[in-house]
Amino acid sequence: MTQLGLVVSLDRCMDTRGCMGACKQENNVDLGAFWVRTYTSTTGGFPDAETYFIPVMCQHCRKPSCVPACPEQAIRKREDGIVVIDTAPCAACGGKECMDACPYGAISYNERDNTVGKCDMCASRVDQGLAPACAFACNSNAWMFGDVDDPESGISQVLAAMGDSVHQLKLETGNEPSCYYLLSSKRWQDMDGLRAR
Ligand code: SF4
Repeated sequence: MTQLGLVVSLDRCMDTRGCMGACKQENNVDLGAFWVRTYTSTTGGFPDAETYFIPVMCQHCRKPSCVPACPEQAIRKREDGIVVIDTAPCAACGGKECMDACPYGAISYNERDNTVGKCDMCASRVDQGLAPACAFACNSNAWMFGDVDDPESGISQVLAAMGDSVHQLKLETGNEPSCYYLLSSKRWQDMDGLRAR
């Protein structure tokens, strides 16, 4: 089995938002919508306050709750594990059930064509053997991309080496996200404690 996933080093992320800009440009994301958005975590108080930044996007869940929520069967998981939305059937639905079903707030509404959109890991780039635009554009080299089910892949070896510094968002949902975050030097906070800007 293959499960493509993303790893973001929060030790490296400086909130320069190169990922956000590259994503919008690559995917022609609507004005005001974001398929990846950086949140801020702040814990503790002076002089022990700690802050880090965390990009949140579709987590390409192994058990994606958006898929059964879609009344048009427009959302599907590819064989490589990427979760994609097929635009034509999506446009037939007037509801936003998938948006409500996603615990990560990863799906946004497109006013221009009454569809929804989200990170598809830049599937068209991936199909050409390229990395997603976010991973390519990050000038902090904070992103990694690859098959998290292949123990020989670079991404799997980084995850294995980082041990307790590996975190995932909202594991209690049972969605089994395929995105991982590395945070070795600060206190990890799950999504409910994060602040969007
Ligand atoms: Fe679906 Fe949300 Fe999981 Fe992405 S993060 S696969 S949109 S449930």
